Amino acid sequence: MATRVLPLDLQFQGHADSIACYLLPHHHGAALVECGAGATLPALTAALAAHGYALTDITHVFLTHIHLDHAGAAGFMARQGAQVFVHPVGAPHLLNPEKLIASATRIYGDRMQTLWGDFLSVPQEKLMILQDAEQVDVGDFRLTAFHTPGHAEHHIAYQLDDLCFTGDVGGVRISSYSYLRLPFVPPELNLEKWRATIERLQTLNICRVAPTHFGIFDDADWHFSAILRALDAVNAWLESAMLADPPVEELRAQFLAWMEVQADEMALPADVRQAYLLANPLGMSADGMYRYWKKFRENR
Ligand SMILES: [Zn+2]
Repeated sequence: MATRVLPLDLQFQGHADSIACYLLPHHHGAALVECGAGATLPALTAALAAHGYALTDITHVFLTHIHLDHAGAAGFMARQGAQVFVHPVGAPHLLNPEKLIASATRIYGDRMQTLWGDFLSVPQEKLMILQDAEQVDVGDFRLTAFHTPGHAEHHIAYQLDDLCFTGDVGGVRISSYSYLRLPFVPPELNLEKWRATIERLQTLNICRVAPTHFGIFDDADWHFSAILRALDAVNAWLESAMLADPPVEELRAQFLAWMEVQADEMALPADVRQAYLLANPLGMSADGMYRYWKKFRENR
């Protein structure tokens, strides 16, 4: 029988369809893929309760990466008893999150606590490191972890049967539209690695994708090829936008305008646009592209 996968809406900032995590029940509790941030723990607790689970029933938390919206609550979950699984490069930041918190605080300033809440460290004995293609058996199902750089160096996508939990490297796709956006956050964005990651995922017999933002889609072929098209489109856009060597503020404004045009073309309603902006702030994407360009492309 196919493993049950239940999407939970973490109601980020009181809005639906922005940040998900996925509940995978087994015989003696349940596993989670992602756990959201400290600030979304009340919503996580309520969503688990609606399915008959307490926080202490969670045995495993599989993180795609350590950005706050995916992993902020991992330390708390570990203290409730869960084992936390992460990429080797992400692990030190969960043991000692001070640097991660400091760099996020530089970005979010005094909104840090309201947006994300507390980021507790994960105790060493609860932290499990996953190598590329490593498999983990949970109850009667098995997850395979693939190292999938592009959005972040330490990113993992998990395969469960024909379903792939794509974290952020699988893009942001809200609601039932055939439309997605790619979260180009600094400092590790790499368009070439992102492309290679998607080409690898395309070889894995995946029929369904479950991005953290947001939900399960059963058209993996369309989804992956749309990501490759988006990577090409952004690459062309960036090459042309950077010809004039604009300051980052101007790149931000141009990128916002381009995304507005796309949203208009897709006739996205206001609530869906809002969910996109909450899940994937566009200013940050522009900063990520700018940094990537300066680091890898400018003097090539
Ligand atoms: Zn991320």
